[in-house]
Amino acid sequence: MLPTKAYATKSAESQLAPFQFERRDVQANDVLIEILYCGICHSDIHQARNEWGGSVYPMVPGHEIVGRVIKVGASVKNFNVGDMAGVGCFVDSCRTCDSCKKGLEQYCVSGMIQTYNSPEPGRKTPTYGGYSSQIVVDEKYTLQIPKNLELSGVAPLLCAGITTYSPLKHCEVKKSQAVAVMGLGGLGHMGVKLAAAFGAEVTVLSTSKSKEADAKRLGAANFVCTKDAGALEKLAEKFDVILNTVSAPFDLTPYLNALKTDGTLVLVGAPSQPHAVPAFPLIMRRRKILGSLIGGIKETQEMLDFCGQHNITADVEVIPATKINEAYERTLSAQVRYRFVIDMKTL
Ligand code: NAP
Ligand code: ZN
Ligand code: ZN
Repeated sequence: MLPTKAYATKSAESQLAPFQFERRDVQANDVLIEILYCGICHSDIHQARNEWGGSVYPMVPGHEIVGRVIKVGASVKNFNVGDMAGVGCFVDSCRTCDSCKKGLEQYCVSGMIQTYNSPEPGRKTPTYGGYSSQIVVDEKYTLQIPKNLELSGVAPLLCAGITTYSPLKHCEVKKSQAVAVMGLGGLGHMGVKLAAAFGAEVTVLSTSKSKEADAKRLGAANFVCTKDAGALEKLAEKFDVILNTVSAPFDLTPYLNALKTDGTLVLVGAPSQPHAVPAFPLIMRRRKILGSLIGGIKETQEMLDFCGQHNITADVEVIPATKINEAYERTLSAQVRYRFVIDMKTL
């Protein structure tokens, strides 16, 4: 067993605090990764505070992991000691269902094994995530990191990057299309960078006027403050795709009306309360609402390679582990610019 340092929360009401636990020993197909950076995703906050239900404690959150391979099992083929490696939101799946066979492990019929807050096969403890010094993962669920990218900015690609890349690809976003991104946070700012890299004309729909200059710097052509009176009505029939990354429920009607005929509202934001679905804005223009969950291993590698080719990383604020609780509060008040990343040297 491998003694591991971490930050954990003991209950939905607790602050995160130092914690020690043991990782499994390295098996034939495993790599042991010394974690260098881990991003703070809003999903970490939802789960740490049990907002989705079913949280297991103590919980070590973190699923935007990059680090250095420090040991490989006897059968490992694609990683060597010293390589940089990434781990995203899941560390295993059944490998045999239709979804797994198609490389859509995130939709595994028996449920993916999440990087944290899942039962760990063969053990009594749950999986523990990336707010920790090291992690043991099967190489099939481990990603290669492009060598040209700065590592702290790569960590958020493992969730925020793939969660926005996958639905933009699924919707076949390309040049000449109008794409809106709702919410300029961790996911949203990656959505802007990626949609712009696909050639789309990007509009940011934000509740924070102060983010306008950043939105344009990140690649948006237009910025709309959704709190301004009449702002949403002016957007009627404008967009092919709206990518919603907002972590709270909202009135879907003006956003559906902002879609062209056959347009798609993609929901990746995952509030604990349901949205009310209005029928008429959907019916009258054959509009669609689409859900999307992160991405499979093959597509996550494709996204990382795309980011390597286009020199895309997240805009990050690197913090020591002692500032995790403060970072949670700043994320909740939409103050993050645009992803907090923990420097694991500070554990
Ligand atoms: P984040 O960094 O906190 O960004 C969310 C942004 O949404 C905020 O910066 C803010 O942007 C806007 N916002 C927040 N509260 C709002 C409210 N009450 N009303 C209107 N706008 C609000 O969060 P994130 O890490 O990007 O995650 C966003 C959501 O996606 C979370 O619910 C998370 O759990 C979910 N998620 C889903 C997946 C998936 O696979 N589907 C993966 C990862 C995360 P403005 O200031 O610009 O308005
Ligand atoms: Zn996430
Ligand atoms: Zn499966």
